[in-house]
Amino acid sequence: MFVAPLYASAHQNNPESLVIANSKAWKPFSFINENGQPDGILVDYWREYSRMTGTPVTFLLVDWNESLQAVKDGRADVHGGLLWSRERDVYLDYGQSIMRVETQLFINRNRLNIDVAELLSGKHSFVLGVVEGGIEHSFAIESYPNVAVITFDNNADMIAAAFKGEIDGFIAERQVAHFYFHSSKANLQFTSVKHLYSGLLRPATSQGHHDLLTRLMHGMASVSNESKQKIFSRWMYIETVYPNYLIPILTAAFVIAVFSYMILLRITVRSKTKELEKANSELKYLSETDQLTGLSNRYHFYSQFSNRVANNDSVCIMLFDIDDFKTINDTYGHQVGDVVIRSVGQAALKVIKSPHLIGRIGGEEFAVVCTNIDIAQAKSLSERLCHSIRALVLFEDQTRVTVSLGCAYYHIASADISLSEADSLMYQAKAKGKDQFVLAQYWQLPLHDNEKTA
Ligand code: GH3
Ligand code: MG
Ligand code: MG
Repeated sequence: MFVAPLYASAHQNNPESLVIANSKAWKPFSFINENGQPDGILVDYWREYSRMTGTPVTFLLVDWNESLQAVKDGRADVHGGLLWSRERDVYLDYGQSIMRVETQLFINRNRLNIDVAELLSGKHSFVLGVVEGGIEHSFAIESYPNVAVITFDNNADMIAAAFKGEIDGFIAERQVAHFYFHSSKANLQFTSVKHLYSGLLRPATSQGHHDLLTRLMHGMASVSNESKQKIFSRWMYIETVYPNYLIPILTAAFVIAVFSYMILLRITVRSKTKELEKANSELKYLSETDQLTGLSNRYHFYSQFSNRVANNDSVCIMLFDIDDFKTINDTYGHQVGDVVIRSVGQAALKVIKSPHLIGRIGGEEFAVVCTNIDIAQAKSLSERLCHSIRALVLFEDQTRVTVSLGCAYYHIASADISLSEADSLMYQAKAKGKDQFVLAQYWQLPLHDNEKTA
């Protein structure tokens, strides 16, 4: 569809096309928008007419009086929508109604201390604004003959003057006034005080063009009530009832809500991750630790063992077992036996410190891996282990808890090192009367029994 320049030639060149005249500043019915394009309810209505009938339409949007003049002198085929009046009936023929409008009297709130009828009687200074050539113009002159009336070319100018305080009141369609009120910050200053008249907006042609009027009326019948309603509600709802800033505010609220939700989600994920990390480390501790003594458990000790014996200069393995533990259990009970095992573990932990590794690998059997210590240190550690356990005071009757310890010292580290040398050295210590350690050193790995026969 071609959008008209302000003056377009009427339909002589193309009998099908229509030039539609109306006001350039009659928001929300017909106006030129900020992009310089025709806009408004009536413009949308005629675009829908064009879509339904296939008739190309162009708009001639000018000052109100000039829009009437343009239909009169043939520059426009149709007036896009106006109220009937006797005066206009002389030179126009009307089509059927497009929509109903209500015309009201708006007054500056600061003049409301005086009764409205009194205010309009002429006894007070009161300046009333109207659009020139509008029905409201003749209405004002007839109804309020004693009031000073100022005319404006269009509604935009009139309402701007009202907001500036240049007039005390004005007459306008309710929809028009509300449109300006909601798109201006000064809207609270003026209020509707009186319903003046209702009327139907109807298109009009210059008198005598019966074919055109008939064609127009047929075309208008093809615009469904539903699409008319859609156009009206779009303009009335969004542009007149709701203020212009509502959509930006709603958008901002939505964006803020989304951001808050994202931040909340982030915080939740972070705290859940922390909880999970804590739970994982607790689980790791539980899975590696012997619950009775707090030392490494059998599983963790062996998982560390092979790595430690393979990757160092020298390795020292110790194995120790509580002496006559069955007797302790039998004499004092299993629970006391547990206390003894825990005490032995804690005493041993005071001697064997990180980076060395100590674990409980059986009921009352413990194993130690030390790396990169010399033989003298190995001997000293063995002595101190036996001593620290012997020094425990656990029973009133002076019963001592002792261990037998085997200490195997390897000058060369190897992945093949096992607990077997330390184990047999420990049995030697048992055989020699318990409560002592037996130490042996190896320059190379001794052959085991199965290897000797091979
Ligand atoms: P030896 O001096 O030759 O080592 O004699 P022993 O009596 O200590 O003999 P052995 O080491 O074979 O005995 C281990 C006993 O330890 C057998 C078992 O009933 C007991 N035992 C194993 N685990 C636990 C435990 O967790 N708590 C308690 N209270 N007793 C345990
Ligand atoms: Mg034992
Ligand atoms: Mg044992």
